[in-house]
Amino acid sequence: MDYKSTRDASVRVSSAQAIARGISADGGLFVPDGLPQLTGADWPRLAQLDYMERAKDILGRFLTDFSQEELSQCVTGAYGTGKFDNEAIAPLADLGQGTYMLELWHGPTCAFKDMALQLLPHLLSMAASKTAGGKTMVILVATSGDTGKAALEGFKDVPGTKILVFYPEQGVSPMQKLQMVTQEGGNVSVCAIQGNFDDAQTGVKTIFTDKKVAELLEQNNMMFSSANSINWGRLAPQIVYYISAYCDLLKESRIENGQGINIVVPTGNFGNILAAYYAKKMGLPIHKLICASNCNNVLTDFIRTGVYDRNRPFHTTISPSMDILISSNLERLLFDLCGENDGTIRGWMEDLKSTGRYEVSSDVLEKLHIHFYGGYCDDAATKDTIRGMFEKEGYLCDTHTAVGLCVYRQYQKDTGDDTPTVIASTANPFKFSTSVLEALKEQNVMQMDEFQKVAALEEKTRVPAPAPLTGLADKEVRFSGTCTSATMENVVLDMLGIQEH
Ligand SMILES: *Cc1c(COP(=O)(O)O)cnc(C)c1O
Repeated sequence: MDYKSTRDASVRVSSAQAIARGISADGGLFVPDGLPQLTGADWPRLAQLDYMERAKDILGRFLTDFSQEELSQCVTGAYGTGKFDNEAIAPLADLGQGTYMLELWHGPTCAFKDMALQLLPHLLSMAASKTAGGKTMVILVATSGDTGKAALEGFKDVPGTKILVFYPEQGVSPMQKLQMVTQEGGNVSVCAIQGNFDDAQTGVKTIFTDKKVAELLEQNNMMFSSANSINWGRLAPQIVYYISAYCDLLKESRIENGQGINIVVPTGNFGNILAAYYAKKMGLPIHKLICASNCNNVLTDFIRTGVYDRNRPFHTTISPSMDILISSNLERLLFDLCGENDGTIRGWMEDLKSTGRYEVSSDVLEKLHIHFYGGYCDDAATKDTIRGMFEKEGYLCDTHTAVGLCVYRQYQKDTGDDTPTVIASTANPFKFSTSVLEALKEQNVMQMDEFQKVAALEEKTRVPAPAPLTGLADKEVRFSGTCTSATMENVVLDMLGIQEH
């Protein structure tokens, strides 16, 4: 299977090239040239397999220049080495009345990004050996918290890769900082930068595109690559868990083969819900895709009106991983909905860059409405949802997942639709202990340190806190370095052991 660019449909690359490059030179995103098709006979067949076998089957249809042996090695490296605390990898929890939580947070950093970031480094390392003459892949990450830790855990000790994460000194939570500075692994490094997230991001971009640095890397048989959420190697693994969830429902006789389900996704950069859309286009019986946003509701407005307009205040919410005004992966959906017209996409993306706004045609909007429903909720409704769910059903969910649940209830009220529904649960509630405790009306939360909050939540709910969070208390701090924008480059070269001549 070949991949093409959303901004230049004449570009053709292999899956290994798409993964190694991350983004196309024209600024477009790589998309598969035609989606593999599955049929009603495939679901019961896949239902008999475990998660890793399902992953190999589905990924093999997309990553056709990887051998079954190579894919098997990648999938086992990601999901088969005991880093997930649940054998099912992505289990379903039954909330009653045909509603299910797809728990995507059983990985080492307790959030859904592990599902892809545990696999991507293996794919990338394999892709480098196929396309880049076995160069060492160097990953630079600027993080506002969660992605940095998930990337560190994913790349930890993966052969042929090195990773360096920069985080803003004042811009991450104490728990997030602790997660990063105690990171284990022989190929990892972490450095604080004096400044905010934008300073870290700009610094990384500058180094990434610096010709002199690129040459130094080349001389040392290394090259930069990227692990961000537009990389096809992060999207493909996400398609697997939607298909897997359908198979589990089938296996447990919760649905009949061929019966439709809804999927609800708390959305930020549009990667997770796009994977569900691709699963639908591959033949998975999905009725509606429900796109849930917080107060940064640019996607809700877009789905309702066809106008994408980022000119609006940015809100800092209690679901921070969804505080996004430009959802990059939406470009892939638009490419599909407009009949793969690269010129149309270039136009809209230029409008977005110059005016912060674009409007799609009425036929694209019509197609959008066939597949998607959009809704949003504010922080108060998010907290009410967490409390209501816990008090009525005894199920504890995090702030992001609660946004999904809240919007799903709006959808039900709006439409009366009672199709069985899977909600993507994107983080373990203990990862956001402060907000979850506040939602449960715990007093004096602000006086507690991070570990006291985790203990208080455990005590209050009798839900066990995940080991990767409680275990941090005993870990040694490995990275206490700080830099400025001006010294970031030296930090990178030092970490790579490269001398400037
Ligand atoms: C990244 C993230 C999201 C948003 O996912 P997208 O793929 O960017 O839409 C939602 N919830 C959590 C907890 C996340 O970390």
